[in-house]
Amino acid sequence: MTTDTETRSCDLLIEAGWVVPVEPHAVVLEDHAVAVRGGAIVDVLPIAEARSRYRAAETVSRPEAALIPGMVNAHTHNPMTLLRGIADDLPLMEWLQGHIWPVEAAVIGPQFVEDGITLAIAEMLRGGTTCANENYFFPDVQAAVYKRHGFRARVGLPVIDFPTAWAQSSDEYFDRAGEVHDLWRDDPLVATAFAPHAPYTVSDANFERIRMLADQLDLPVHLHTHETAQEVADSIKLHGQRPLARLDRLGLVTDRLIAVHMTQLTDAEIELCAQRGVSVVHCPESNLKLASGFCPACKLHHAGVNLAIGTDGCASNNDLDMFGETRTAALLAKAVADDASALDAFSALRAATLGGARALGFETRIGSIEIGKQADLVCVDLGQLETQPLHHVVSQLIYATGRHQVSDVWIAGAAKLRQRVLVDMDVQALIANARQWRGRIAALGR
Ligand SMILES: [Zn+2]
Repeated sequence: MTTDTETRSCDLLIEAGWVVPVEPHAVVLEDHAVAVRGGAIVDVLPIAEARSRYRAAETVSRPEAALIPGMVNAHTHNPMTLLRGIADDLPLMEWLQGHIWPVEAAVIGPQFVEDGITLAIAEMLRGGTTCANENYFFPDVQAAVYKRHGFRARVGLPVIDFPTAWAQSSDEYFDRAGEVHDLWRDDPLVATAFAPHAPYTVSDANFERIRMLADQLDLPVHLHTHETAQEVADSIKLHGQRPLARLDRLGLVTDRLIAVHMTQLTDAEIELCAQRGVSVVHCPESNLKLASGFCPACKLHHAGVNLAIGTDGCASNNDLDMFGETRTAALLAKAVADDASALDAFSALRAATLGGARALGFETRIGSIEIGKQADLVCVDLGQLETQPLHHVVSQLIYATGRHQVSDVWIAGAAKLRQRVLVDMDVQALIANARQWRGRIAALGR
């Protein structure tokens, strides 16, 4: 038994000028500290009180920083970080079929996946992202790399109707999915989800199999859908239904569904998503760059749909900057809704943290700074001139802060970035490896 006057021990005490817990909503705690023990948050309290109550193995003091929950990148294809900038300024299908898929076919394999993800982890950590929802091939390699770097992730178990380097037939996709899921089912950091590519590349039969297995294994289903008007028109032509109606017929429109993009939505479809507890991942910069359309983020938010934010892959963004993405989401929501109050700063930060956690089914573990949750935490230095004067902490975080202002990052209480320096990653080696890939891809002589 402990009493309030007793000194307690903790592994880490982070003292910050401001703690933005995200939950409760729209709260900023001034001069607060977060105590961490065994990788979890055990207390959130004023600094003065924390100093008398806790005997910490390590104390990190950041009086000029805001401490926020680690950002959750709710939709990525991180091996594609190695394809950053290989083809730009093209519409989705031409970009995908004429450029991305042919290059990918020539380089894809375990090494490409490992090297791309490693580069992405370094970029994400330096930008305050502590969790990724991954959608790519070789989930076995992905999971091992995320685990090795102590980075939190849900890796997608891919299903697509044509042969790839990962699997040759539907049966093989499902067999391999089962094997990877079995290996990672109890891991505290890395989990799996089904990742059917999109309604236009997956048959009814495969979707039915996914629904059955996702229910059985208690897994989310992560897919691109309603990305473009063309996708919706093609679905009507081929199936006589819009993609969401087709997914509903197949039993997939549930709280397991992580629906990415959703730029084409009727009011009835928004209502359906709200009723069923669907999470929508908004990837505004990818949608803008590929001219895919605009996700009605404000309408979704008002309807009560859980909104998360993703960067999409580096080949269509071209970065993994969740600060930039969240700002774009907040600004675009206002333009699309013709309403300057749409997706206010607190709601945008919530979408980038707790919204992402909820989409991934991780909301009891991460996404906010609450006692009992994992210590996935990010210090953002607001003392720099670009965020002065500091009238409003969360306004600065969303509308003015650049990712270079992220100073320190922890995942499950383990330090990953200290004063802008990656704890166990060699930046020069990462750059040298990326250059080697540039040479290999250039040699394909497209
Ligand atoms: Zn994507």
